[in-house]
Amino acid sequence: DEAEDEGIKWKYHDPARQQEAAWKLSLLSQLDKAIENGEVWLAFQPQMRLKDRKIVSAEALARWTHPEKGPISPIEFIAAAEQHDRIGALTDFVIDRAVEAIAQLRQSEPDFSVAVNLSARMLSDRTLADRVVERLTHYGVPAKALVLELTETAAMEGDGADLDLLARLRDLGVQISIDDYGTGLSTLEYLKKVPASEIKVDQSFVKSMRENRSDLIMVQSTIALAHSLDRKVVAEGVEDSQVLEQLTMMKCDIAQGYAVGRPVGIAELRRRLQRDRARNVA
Ligand code: C2E
Ligand code: MG
Ligand code: MG
Ligand code: MG
Repeated sequence: DEAEDEGIKWKYHDPARQQEAAWKLSLLSQLDKAIENGEVWLAFQPQMRLKDRKIVSAEALARWTHPEKGPISPIEFIAAAEQHDRIGALTDFVIDRAVEAIAQLRQSEPDFSVAVNLSARMLSDRTLADRVVERLTHYGVPAKALVLELTETAAMEGDGADLDLLARLRDLGVQISIDDYGTGLSTLEYLKKVPASEIKVDQSFVKSMRENRSDLIMVQSTIALAHSLDRKVVAEGVEDSQVLEQLTMMKCDIAQGYAVGRPVGIAELRRRLQRDRARNVA
């Protein structure tokens, strides 16, 4: 569209922008190798079921620890990978590691599930569903233990085929979750179309719901809407225990955020789950 074209023209006249574009390209040329070398890994952020305060699932978040540059934000390298057709390879890597983690975690937590973020681009990939099933079979993980998170804009942009892919994944038993809910457009149309079992209220509403009345109303009405459509609600960006308490009173299903736990490596997540189990037995 017009605004984007303007942006591109401007980009080439701006040295800082040019440098940024060059940096992104050099990142991309290193991405495949980085995956091979183990510089890319998954952090897992715990998700708490509020009715009994149990950690029942986690979100897998991609991390790139560059040997010289240090940690690179997923926002940065995922956007770059999307723009240059490297997102398929990255997604396959993330799905492989996430499903492997589910298999490990379910040894001690039989109902545990893990959510993976899926780029909008991936929805037009005709073989994605087969690759997901292949990995689930390989690790002996039931489809229902894998959740695929989509942002609101993702499926709205696509054609009918994108929705067919989602329906196919859903029919296989994979769960679909709508990420960053409330920040996109056409939210009601989207909700009707996407076969999701879960809605994640965006952290921008959750963080400020105790101070800002309209944010509180947004969270409240999303919970009501989701429940009336028989879907679960996850609140993201829960940073303090007061918000956690309030969400529990509001009958929100799941909380995710620093108050529950930061994203950590698989070993650390397993230790956390073990500590929680020991405490509940005592
Ligand atoms: P997201 O899926 O909405 O993930 C939530 C982000 O919020 C994560 O940032 C997480 O670390 C952060 N967060 C969690 N709790 C809190 C909190 O209480 N307060 C605050 N301020 N932040 C919190 P992260 O890991 O930097 O990821 C950013 C985004 O990058 C993700 O947003 C997701 O859209 C994307 N992303 C991450 N991993 C992947 C991936 O493997 N594939 C794709 N396609 N996208 C990914
Ligand atoms: Mg997400
Ligand atoms: Mg989100
Ligand atoms: Mg986000």
